[in-house]
Amino acid sequence: MIHPYTKVLNSDNNRGSGVFATHFIPKGTLITVPTEVDQVLSMEQVFAMPLSEREFLAKYAYLTNDGKYVLHHDQARYMNHSCDSNTLTVVGIDICIAVRDILPNEEITEDYGLYYADDDTFECLCGSLKCRHKICEDDIQQHGDEWDHKIASVFHLIPTVEQPLWGFISSSLREEIEAILASNISFPSCKVLKCSPDYLQKAGELLWPSTD
Ligand SMILES: [Zn+2]
Repeated sequence: MIHPYTKVLNSDNNRGSGVFATHFIPKGTLITVPTEVDQVLSMEQVFAMPLSEREFLAKYAYLTNDGKYVLHHDQARYMNHSCDSNTLTVVGIDICIAVRDILPNEEITEDYGLYYADDDTFECLCGSLKCRHKICEDDIQQHGDEWDHKIASVFHLIPTVEQPLWGFISSSLREEIEAILASNISFPSCKVLKCSPDYLQKAGELLWPSTD
């Protein structure tokens, strides 16, 4: 589920639709959170789907750290990638957080480098001055520390800013976020994706099959 101060518009650079802020959104705000109404699919369910539906999922779903595919029920699925994204996803708990203040009418972007669990790559046309030009599996190794640092620098702001999505989060996830805030459990590094078991890689291969 995505923050209510958002709308879908045509994006620049022929990148199709994108999600834009309708109001100022301060850093530390939760931009998307997993909810009961999102569609969660197992590897087996995806495997049984025709190629056209798997291609749809490859474009709009994300892969969780336990090898499930999640399709947001709302316009969260239209968030585009940027190599200098204003949000990042906390891998493992699947909340997407604003890592800097987002201005009205600014496009809300995330970094797809977090989701590449296999050896697929895509050419990036994000237009950022920090564009990496190719998004690939190695991005987590190259940029994981930087992403962790960016998330950690705003995570403590979660209780201090308005959080319209807080009431939609499951009680177990709320407790996990509160435990991280209280430093009772460790902060989940995005690099856990690289330490996942084989089934995560298989899950990625299923969604993004090799073209070799
Ligand atoms: Zn880029």
